[in-house]
Amino acid sequence: MKKIQDAKIDDSTLRDGLQMPGIRAPSPEDRFIIAEILNDIGIDRMELFGTWYDVDRKTAQLLLDAGFKSRVAIWVRANTADIDEALKLNGIKEVGISHPISKIHLDYKLRISEEEAFNRISGAVKYATDHGLRSFYHAEDCTRADWTFEKKIIQAVIEAGAECYRICDTVGASLSAHTSDLIPLERSVPDRIKAINKLFGDKIELEFHGHDDLGNAVTNTLTALNNGATWASTTMLGIGERSGNAETEKVIMNLYYHYNVNRYKIERLTECCQKISRFCDIKIPNNKAIVGPNVFTHQSGIHSDGVIKHPETYELYPPEKVGNIRRLFIGSYSGKNVILHKLKELIKEEGKSKSFDENDGRVKGLIDYIQNNLFGSGARHSPLTEGEFKMIVRMFALI
Ligand SMILES: [Zn+2]
Repeated sequence: MKKIQDAKIDDSTLRDGLQMPGIRAPSPEDRFIIAEILNDIGIDRMELFGTWYDVDRKTAQLLLDAGFKSRVAIWVRANTADIDEALKLNGIKEVGISHPISKIHLDYKLRISEEEAFNRISGAVKYATDHGLRSFYHAEDCTRADWTFEKKIIQAVIEAGAECYRICDTVGASLSAHTSDLIPLERSVPDRIKAINKLFGDKIELEFHGHDDLGNAVTNTLTALNNGATWASTTMLGIGERSGNAETEKVIMNLYYHYNVNRYKIERLTECCQKISRFCDIKIPNNKAIVGPNVFTHQSGIHSDGVIKHPETYELYPPEKVGNIRRLFIGSYSGKNVILHKLKELIKEEGKSKSFDENDGRVKGLIDYIQNNLFGSGARHSPLTEGEFKMIVRMFALI
């Protein structure tokens, strides 16, 4: 049985991530900057577009030329033309071959039979193998596919030379629960992985690609890794189709926190997400786990007081671990201690050496003004900016 400590990350930010609706497509140079950070973080494999447009080909070549430690896989459809196009890239070693296997996709999207799908998939994987490429097969929508058909497909891609079978929870239908009257095998993450491994475990690696339509992508990915999958297919910030994918940073931090996986350079996670936010013109939600600006921001009196005394009271780990920063806000429900703390910091910053007396009438006046006149009265709703706080401190002649 594979251990979760040996899990590998296949980051698809530069493929599935860029399929996010409304995203600004970054230039090849900007994509390269993102890839450099991903490589430095220690991502095991990156997935890229490579075949269709100039920007994608240029990006793929830049990454392949860089000689990253991270493996680079080019995502193609299950046809020889796509593979031929990918083969034009210098230094290409690996492709991810995508084709759906659910009846919904075969009947309504492609309008082909299971037999035709079988031939396309096994043919494409064999073609890649015959041309010296490593490959993983991306079984689109397999969490809604027929299990009997899926078993045939897995057997076929093994015989054709695929190294890895990617379970694609394309519309986020899976659940981290066991099979029951309500949950069929296809949708049960732990049971289907065990079932596949029981039949084919030593012949092919498993990867889980989870979408977040029901908000279960990260949990499902961790369940997959805990039950015998080797790879997690994820994107930074969870960017991707519709509600997106499992977040790379969340999976990595769960591996770090719960399973002592220390091999990823987690201190660059926030910077990586900020770059993606800038290049792709998407806002990081304030409360986004790990990398959001609120994760280490404290405003309410009880929380700020705890953090000032001992950060671990309300922080799972120090912000600098993931390249984030701690902030203390003064706003509604801020207590006396945080105002005093901010005041001391400001006095230090301003280089004033005068001793600080909490019983000074001006200090008492400042606290009363902020707590009662501004927020308590309801006159002010949003927290004070650093500049506003400084102005008020000046008003009380404390700096
Ligand atoms: Zn996807």
